[in-house]
Amino acid sequence: MGLVVQKFGGTSVGTIERIKNTAKRVIAEKKKGNDVIVVVSAMGKTTDQLVSLAKELSPYPSKREMDMLLSTGEQVTISLLAIALAEAGYEAISLTGWQAGILTENVHSNARILNIDQMRIQQYLKENRIVVVAGFQGINDHNEITTLGRGGSDTTAVALAAALHADKCMIYTDVTGVFTSDPRYIPSARKLSAISYDEMLELANLGAGVLHSRAVEFAKNYKVPLEVCSSMEEESGTIIEEEVQVEKGLVVRGVAFEDEITRITVFGLKNKITNLSGIFTSLANNNIDVDIIIQNHTVGENPYLSFTIKHEDLRDTTQLLEAKQGELGFDHFEYESGLAKVSIIGSGMISNPGVAAKMFDCLTRNDIQIKMVSTSEIKVSTVIEESHMIKAAQSLHTTFELDVVEQGVS
Ligand code: ADP
Ligand code: ASP
Ligand code: MG
Repeated sequence: MGLVVQKFGGTSVGTIERIKNTAKRVIAEKKKGNDVIVVVSAMGKTTDQLVSLAKELSPYPSKREMDMLLSTGEQVTISLLAIALAEAGYEAISLTGWQAGILTENVHSNARILNIDQMRIQQYLKENRIVVVAGFQGINDHNEITTLGRGGSDTTAVALAAALHADKCMIYTDVTGVFTSDPRYIPSARKLSAISYDEMLELANLGAGVLHSRAVEFAKNYKVPLEVCSSMEEESGTIIEEEVQVEKGLVVRGVAFEDEITRITVFGLKNKITNLSGIFTSLANNNIDVDIIIQNHTVGENPYLSFTIKHEDLRDTTQLLEAKQGELGFDHFEYESGLAKVSIIGSGMISNPGVAAKMFDCLTRNDIQIKMVSTSEIKVSTVIEESHMIKAAQSLHTTFELDVVEQGVS
């Protein structure tokens, strides 16, 4: 007998019928003799609808109140699923994030999980109950409700699996696994039977919304056996694990993309030594995530600096730069919105020179201007116009032979 954590996303619990179907999946796991913890998201598009309601009242609602509001979505699902399980004859109990002991940092709307007080969950498991936990939410040390960022229910599930040393963590969703690219936009994308933690982390960080990147971080750090699969179909999903043998030695394993990127350029940096640390410390202190950074020195001129942020952080970023212009020491700044980031990912790149060149060549052939580039050992990212995003992703998918080759054996 083992412990299994199952997580069901919004579409998988979007209607009463689907909640009944979810209950069946949970019961099937329980019947194997396992202890089961189930993590669920809000039903269907509930979170988006709650965001829209708040936006009807205010363009910039307080993050604390947004957490209060959005956390209600998951609370609906946990109780309905517990009711469905009880109706089917299984003892279940629903728990909100704080009841499940999920302690987070003191940040609203994008908090990290710091600790899980397992006492209550352990007690219920001992009583042979199925424990149904609200995803995406926790509590901070001021007893305030926090949320973990959009898509954060995955992180709740993996963090619970890590803390309780679960034998496996299953992420049930509306696709049959992790694909070489988002199958909703890239029809030729193929399911991977396995992918390494590192590659999955890059994919998730670079926009593949199928898994929350912090969930992958937890899985990698605590070696949680993780599988992404369909909540509707019976076929096997994608295993995320330490080492993956890649069939046919493919260099690139996936293409990820993300829109709503804004580039900020700060001109006339006055102090070459302290400028960078000053600007990025201020942004970090205000929880603004900065992505690609490029500093440009031209002899005889003050250097300038470009960096990308998510468009939703533009207001906070411009307010901060305006308020601190004198202190940070620069002439002026400009921004460009309507950008996207398209990336190729694969651990085979480490030993294969020329991958970036092949990527740039592909984009050039498609008349797509590259505005920024960033590389690591296992990825190359480019910033381009948002309107070219899908065309770029599809061409790269084809260029790197992801359309046709069956790949990823575990
Ligand atoms: P859930 O509500 O179950 O958490 P999400 O919408 O968060 O579901 O994640 C599943 C979606 O992720 C899919 O419908 C798909 O469009 C998208 N996606 C993006 N990139 C990928 C990828 N590489 N592989 C599979 N799905 C992807
Ligand atoms: N309900 C939240 C969202 O829509 C969390 C999640 O689904 O993982 O982002
Ligand atoms: Mg999700």
